Amino acid sequence: MAADRLAARVVLTGLASLTGLTGLTGLTGCSDRHEPTHYCDDESSLAIGADCPIGLESCQTAVFDATRCVRRSDGESPPVRVITEAQYDEELEGPAQDADAGVEDARVDHWDEALRLLRLLEPETDRSEAFQEESSSRVAAYYSGFYRDVTIIDRQDDGDAEGRMRTLAHEYVHALQDTDFGLAERRGRFSYDDDNIIALSHLTEGEATLRAELTYGLLRSIPPESLHLEDHFARRVAGIKSYVASHASPYVAAKRSLHYGTGPLYFAQVFAAEGSDGVDDLMAWFPLTSVQWMAGYHARELYAAEQPLQCRSREGPDGYSAYATDVLGAAVLFAFLSSERTGGRYELASAWDLALAWRAEQYIVFAADGDDDHTALIWQLRFATEDRADEFGAAADDMNAGWTILQDGRELRLFAATDPDVMETWIDEARCEPDRAADEAAADADD
Ligand SMILES: [Zn+2]
Repeated sequence: MAADRLAARVVLTGLASLTGLTGLTGLTGCSDRHEPTHYCDDESSLAIGADCPIGLESCQTAVFDATRCVRRSDGESPPVRVITEAQYDEELEGPAQDADAGVEDARVDHWDEALRLLRLLEPETDRSEAFQEESSSRVAAYYSGFYRDVTIIDRQDDGDAEGRMRTLAHEYVHALQDTDFGLAERRGRFSYDDDNIIALSHLTEGEATLRAELTYGLLRSIPPESLHLEDHFARRVAGIKSYVASHASPYVAAKRSLHYGTGPLYFAQVFAAEGSDGVDDLMAWFPLTSVQWMAGYHARELYAAEQPLQCRSREGPDGYSAYATDVLGAAVLFAFLSSERTGGRYELASAWDLALAWRAEQYIVFAADGDDDHTALIWQLRFATEDRADEFGAAADDMNAGWTILQDGRELRLFAATDPDVMETWIDEARCEPDRAADEAAADADD
């Protein structure tokens, strides 16, 4: 039952996003355009003659004033604290994580196990460990939604004042986003599944990264057109694609890094076409699937409404129960297709193209009942065309991982299990049924 309810929510979200979020936009309360305010009347007065060290209060004030002007926000400057690298490491390894580890050891995390089955997560690693490793070394500053403050990590050997000014401006944008619409609130409202979470990261990181570049330009008197933003972010996207493809845990790399490239690239495309008003509008009216962000602003018309999957299996192997229902989305699909670890046969560009043909999905993880720790999963996908579905089926077959793939037109179901003995009976009995719950939910939503 719980799995079905989740399924209905998942599909509803997909529909909402693909039909342009009708009815939802007004709820965010930030669709009004911000007019430049008095502190921004004379932009040239905000320029400073040279890069400044962000540990200094005067530098922080200059960066904040410029950020607020670029964003046309009324927000107040958040408190800023400066800590040493050693303090930062200490905070990262705080007692809270030890407690987490104890809880996780108690049971097998079937979500992690399913990712390992798809070769998206390194063996012997869990997601939280991998995410933590991914974030620890590179951070120069961060915004805490809990404390509503910005922390700067004072790295003595870091000579990159320019990069650190951008980072501070980026964190200030997060603080202003939080004042505007509530970061946690928006996450709570729109994060129905993994794909939505990635899409929301595109929104918040995309805006913060774009505005940070513009802020730096304002501070150093560089006009926006001289920043070559689209080229700059397109190069970043290319670098991130390679990074994902070579990462030991492609799922973690895709989820943690892709939006820092595709998010700002989308925003830069909007900024080039529609200026700051377009960027403001995007903050209120935003894509909720990663495929839309990845495809970019110029392809936004291509993603029309999709119906729920027509063929779907919901039963696990005999003696298994549904553990989680989710949507991984096109970003993770790209990781799957391009990764050296999965044995993906694709060049980056072809993997990207095929991932952009993602149209609908349901991902279900099953856990064996009782003391048995086995995991099974069904990854059900619809592609834009039958040819694209064929292509995915062939690629997944090539990976030779003991998966079974059943195709029905544009849709495929990939079955995988840690216990190979369950496969045969499971596949034989797997039925293909349209998703009634989702259809009903969609009909309700139309009323
Ligand atoms: Zn950020």
